[in-house]
Amino acid sequence: MPVGVPGVVLQGTGGQWQVRLPDGTTRIAALRGRVKHGSVTKLAVGDDVSLAHDATTDAWAITEILPRRSQLARRAPGGHGERVVVANVDQVVVVFAMVKPEPNEKMLDRFLVIAEANDVAARVVINKVDLAPPGEAARRFAPYAEIGYALHLTSTHTGAGLAELHAALRGRISALTGPSGVGKSSLLNALYPGVDLRVGAISESVNKGRHTTVGARMHPLPDGGYVVDTPGLREVGLWGIEARELDKCFPEFVPTLASCRFADCRHLAEPECGVRGALATGRISPSRYESYVKLREEVEGDSRDW
Ligand code: GDP
Ligand code: ZN
Repeated sequence: MPVGVPGVVLQGTGGQWQVRLPDGTTRIAALRGRVKHGSVTKLAVGDDVSLAHDATTDAWAITEILPRRSQLARRAPGGHGERVVVANVDQVVVVFAMVKPEPNEKMLDRFLVIAEANDVAARVVINKVDLAPPGEAARRFAPYAEIGYALHLTSTHTGAGLAELHAALRGRISALTGPSGVGKSSLLNALYPGVDLRVGAISESVNKGRHTTVGARMHPLPDGGYVVDTPGLREVGLWGIEARELDKCFPEFVPTLASCRFADCRHLAEPECGVRGALATGRISPSRYESYVKLREEVEGDSRDW
């Protein structure tokens, strides 16, 4: 093959990267030394790359990392250094269930903050709506739709919401996350029957001690796009988000921030606070504000530890 074959990095372990070619086949490739040391970006799962094939050794090398459209990255507290968990993600898809297990809005808000901090769009999927009284899921999660998050109410048992979710995943790179047992694997099986996506397989294997790899892994979808299994996203740390940037990670707070008397208002006990004003008039929900307060305490604690 000629030099400059394009590819997408599906997963990587110990310098060996699995790269998908445009024809859908995969190759194992190593980073060419010059790229490894001479480039500012470290290679990550999701990266678009160029590959070269050495006909004598039949080895593949990654010769170029193409510019990223987006990334999900953990930053060290204080903003020193970051680790890219996955590159080129189009959206974070957060899955919860109506029951078994009960949805946890605080955890949902935490995932949404991580997406916002990385400037990546987010969708909320509430699965197992068949187990709740009709209309209850819509009522409970309407505030998220009002904020502007795409909301999918689904059931793998009745098929509700599956066509819309399928359309939302098609052609995009989606980081799928949410607690275990909410139906992520069931959803993927229902959306792509017969396709073994093995989402969650890595993290489960890690728990059993069979693998030492913890990393994101991209699964190609049969009709275009990828779902990314991001075990790291589930370790629900806040990824070194700065305390002062937290308010901007709550999109409905943003229009109120200009009304705060102090430019560095923490929206906790300060007088003339736009956020607490909006809370008092019902434009910000108590549950979302509680999440903010809780996460604010957490990120301020992180910075002190550092
Ligand atoms: P995951 O851990 O998020 O991948 O969850 P699973 O896909 O393994 O599903 C956990 C359990 O929930 C399984 O017993 C599924 O059969 C069940 N389940 C998944 N989706 C639904 C649904 O829409 N309705 C109901 N009632 N049960 C579901
Ligand atoms: Zn304020």
